Amino acid sequence: MALLDRLPTKDRLLRMGLINESQCMFCDDPLETRDHLFLHCPIADYLWNSIFSLSGLHFITRSWESFLAWACYTWKGKSLLSVILKIALNALIYILWEERNKKLFQGRSRNAQELFRIIKDIVGSQLRGRNLNSIDIVNANLCKHWDIG
Ligand SMILES: [Zn+2]
Repeated sequence: MALLDRLPTKDRLLRMGLINESQCMFCDDPLETRDHLFLHCPIADYLWNSIFSLSGLHFITRSWESFLAWACYTWKGKSLLSVILKIALNALIYILWEERNKKLFQGRSRNAQELFRIIKDIVGSQLRGRNLNSIDIVNANLCKHWDIG
């Protein structure tokens, strides 16, 4: 996740003097930062809430450092839940950065539901066909909700 600290978010480009406007591409927030883009922006918040509720969890907003520290501690096991959340985290970062660049450079945009559909497809495609312990009730629910089958 150190890579995220080097992404050319607008707050960094602004500090370097490379741009003079720094508004978020997705909402009216005046400063696009890593924390805003991947966690606090309404579109990121929607995606995280969807990922968490599909996993039977409740999403709580916090700082990126605190979120990652919590995720590293909580998702370190090999449970299906940990695996799903780790894939979803990577997919969310990839999709939001891609979408942000599409909007910035091509003026194209997809809505939050479409982006969530892509994240769900990525999770499904990485786990479908694996030998999952779906006798476990938690796993069975996860497979059903995430459409892993
Ligand atoms: Zn925003």
